[in-house]
Amino acid sequence: MEKLRNFINGEYIAPKTGEYIDNFEPATGKVYSLIPNSGKDDVNLAVKAAEGAFPIWSKMSNDDRCKILTRLAEGIEKRIELFTKAESRDNGKPLSLAANVDIPRAVSNFKFFATAILHYASESHNMEGVGVNYTLRKPLGIVGCISPWNLPLYLFSWKIAPALAAGNCVIAKPSEVTPYTAYLLGEVIKESGMPPGVLNILHGEGQTVGDAIVKHPKVKAISFTGGTQTGKYIAQTAAPMFKKLSLELGGKNPNIIFADCDWKEMMSTTLRSSFANQGQICLCGSRIFIERSIYDKFKKEFVERVEKTVVSYPEDPKAKLGAVVSKAHMEKILSYVELAKEEGGVILTGGRREILEEPYRDGYYVRPTVIENLPFNCRTNQEEIFGPVVTLTPFDTEEEVLQMANSTEYGLSATLWTSNLKRAHRMANELEAGIIWINAWLVRDLRTPFGGVKASGVGREGGWEALRFFTEPKNVFIKY
Ligand code: NDP
Repeated sequence: MEKLRNFINGEYIAPKTGEYIDNFEPATGKVYSLIPNSGKDDVNLAVKAAEGAFPIWSKMSNDDRCKILTRLAEGIEKRIELFTKAESRDNGKPLSLAANVDIPRAVSNFKFFATAILHYASESHNMEGVGVNYTLRKPLGIVGCISPWNLPLYLFSWKIAPALAAGNCVIAKPSEVTPYTAYLLGEVIKESGMPPGVLNILHGEGQTVGDAIVKHPKVKAISFTGGTQTGKYIAQTAAPMFKKLSLELGGKNPNIIFADCDWKEMMSTTLRSSFANQGQICLCGSRIFIERSIYDKFKKEFVERVEKTVVSYPEDPKAKLGAVVSKAHMEKILSYVELAKEEGGVILTGGRREILEEPYRDGYYVRPTVIENLPFNCRTNQEEIFGPVVTLTPFDTEEEVLQMANSTEYGLSATLWTSNLKRAHRMANELEAGIIWINAWLVRDLRTPFGGVKASGVGREGGWEALRFFTEPKNVFIKY
């Protein structure tokens, strides 16, 4: 069985612990590789390598860093098929999704920040007759980047690209559940000409190696994407050490549909925003609010179309949904369906595991599920399920839907369907979320601020926000 290795100081190496963890293929439910169960000693080794590399990397010109990061992007592009297959196999997502979204976006992340750094300028503040301030933006030093399993290379690269572009050295940890594409990146890093020690990739469990990264005194900042509970723990650990923190956490996003929307576009986008990546995108709209006058019409067409949705093994070109990421996650999703029933919910379609034929019999497939008849404030409508499960709730007024939409502890994104421009502006202003899409979903411009409010996180990623996070401002004043 293939054994993955850590990537430290420009080399693939076995974990100091000598221990490995099973890596499952969600499509079949079988173990297909082993990943390092790294520990503190591996983190120490990576930090040492990063310390050695920092003076070289941070002093390199932006132009040279840009060239290296561009070569990294091109290295992935050159191996696009390898990365696509690996992502789909490791995560269970349809191959077509990995090919059209995950891997191209990872390439774009590197290209975007490779060039963004060339345009990044700091500020100056003139004081008439007194003097002038200018602000230097220095890299932080060694930073930790910890990413989740739902969009593995996509979110991994979304963090490490700005960190590296800004001149930091990185200790990165992908999710233990989906380590493979981050593992493959080692080869590309070597080829890119990046000095050894600049980017170190450690594998293993969050609670051991992830925790050791967060606690290491030489790691100056943590950029974390994952669950809200984990984020809370990381904040508690890192805050007393005065580390900079960027936390991108969970969501329970509303999708609000008014009767005056463009029906066709709304319907096809809502199918995607509900179930893309098996509903395992932090931006999925899992609470669908529908204006009462179109509720029955919406329910009928939506449920009919969901019933026709093909759930299949990732390589099946017909698959719209693949497998969810793990057995434990599948069980969590199905337990929420049971909870919904206890809370009085009516399952309109789905609500069960899908068993495919061999060799996929033990894979983790869940039918896309639509539930109605639940109060907006019940647990099913308040807690993040992070699977292919949505609820339908009718509403009568703008005021009422705003109250329901804003009722959760989360505030990541919200989607709004209406052709009334004034209403769209009014509601965008009132919705408690960091990202609002009007008559669209998941349209991303990498320059825009990305992140949530309330329990969905602290800080913003994307564009200048990311470069500001990964640099420390230093103000210099000169007297006239
Ligand atoms: P987790 O919080 O379980 O894990 C995220 C990462 O943190 C993993 O690499 C994990 O490692 C690691 N980790 C776990 N415990 C610790 C710890 N104590 N110290 C340091 N690192 C730790 O999230 P999931 O992987 O389950 O991802 C799903 C969650 O991510 C959902 O809540 C989703 O909403 C959120 N998410 C948010 C996004 C956003 O931009 N706001 C985008 C995408 C997802 P390991 O896997 O090895 O345990």
